[in-house]
Amino acid sequence: TPDLPQTGAAVKAADRAHVFHSWSAQALIDPLAVAGADGAYFWDYDGNRYLDFTSGLVFTNIGYQHPKVVAAIQEQAGRLATFAPAFAVDVRSEAARLIAERTPGDLDKIFFTNGGAEAVENAVRMARLHTGRPKVLSAYRSYHGATSTAINLTGDPRRWASDTASAGVVHFWAPFLYRSPFYAGNEAQECERALAHLESTIAFEGPHTIAAIILETVPGTAGIMPPPPGYLAGVREICDRHGIVFILDEVMSGFGRTGRWFAADHYDVVPDLLTFAKGVNSGYVPLGGVAISAGIAATFDHRPYPGGLTYSGHPLACAAAVATLQVMAEERVVERADTLGEQVLGPGLRALAERHPSVGEVRGLGAFWALDLVRDRETREPLVPYNATGEANAPMAAFAAACKKNGLWPFVNMNRTHVVPACTLTEAEAKEGLAALDAALSVADKHTA
Ligand code: PLP
Repeated sequence: TPDLPQTGAAVKAADRAHVFHSWSAQALIDPLAVAGADGAYFWDYDGNRYLDFTSGLVFTNIGYQHPKVVAAIQEQAGRLATFAPAFAVDVRSEAARLIAERTPGDLDKIFFTNGGAEAVENAVRMARLHTGRPKVLSAYRSYHGATSTAINLTGDPRRWASDTASAGVVHFWAPFLYRSPFYAGNEAQECERALAHLESTIAFEGPHTIAAIILETVPGTAGIMPPPPGYLAGVREICDRHGIVFILDEVMSGFGRTGRWFAADHYDVVPDLLTFAKGVNSGYVPLGGVAISAGIAATFDHRPYPGGLTYSGHPLACAAAVATLQVMAEERVVERADTLGEQVLGPGLRALAERHPSVGEVRGLGAFWALDLVRDRETREPLVPYNATGEANAPMAAFAAACKKNGLWPFVNMNRTHVVPACTLTEAEAKEGLAALDAALSVADKHTA
């Protein structure tokens, strides 16, 4: 396109002059100028090609530039590029039908948003109106988005700067056996103690004040910690007993990421509200939403729902969702993610852990894995301290740089690297990525005790 900057340097210069980036000290960042992407790869203007083990921000579940999804967006743009949310529009109706068909249980009504944080905001609003109660419980070690309630619900340091208006949010500890907050020695103990802790948090907060409990089914950004068997069923039971709405946040774990349509399918649990975004259309056009149970939907049968968005169910985003869901069925993407995890990534990452003392734990499922990097396997001291910056974070920075040098774009968060590639990653691509990780872990090993 002749009107656009033509070189990586020009793209970057305009970016640095005018683009204000998320989560960053603007003077200290040096974003890579991206020239293109296809499948599981992207490349820059200097001939460097990277295998993307991040799927963007864990959203390109079917990879970049799938021709059928691109064509569906182009076709929709030619036919009806946009339309207001109060109308019934074919592609919006079809997207809602296809999503409702896949969500668990009686979650059959879909409220569309532009992304995950708005989905969380609206789920919380629905829960508060449905119950008439003010508080929401959420977990430490969680991420729910960056808008006001979503960031307050979040359990990582990005919340701290926005904690001025966190009225009604109460945090609790969810299970995480490797770094157990409950001094548990096995999964059954971790489960039992985590549920007891949640029960006592509710008792001391006052059950009648609590509208909802929100959990990521498998916490993502915070470290990919699949919950112990029985935990989510236990939370479901606690919610039922106290009339609390159970919200599962599947923004990251949904749409094939864990080798099921939703991570909830692994645990046979049906929430009252389920938030989604990202994988619903692989992020080709911004889209998120809330899947709503029959009971909560009925609250708003004769009482207006006091929430809405100009672009709720945008036709381009919905066309991308319809096409993505069709591609996922045709190409068996969910099953492929499951097999990728069981047969390639799981065994491959465990083999790396055997060779590298810096790997404390490998955990995950499907195309959703984390390596917990440590200075010392015995003490489990993290390779870098919690929320480290600058010199303190140097070992992780060196690990990430080594990945990039080897053609792998890694997801790095605190002392962890997450392996979250496209669900459609081939075995050969996975092996290429594992080899790059192998080399980069040797750099991390140098920082072990
Ligand atoms: N919830 C979860 C579990 C997420 O992982 C994210 C984003 O990573 C969000 C919510 C926020 O989504 P968005 O960035 O689209 O607002």
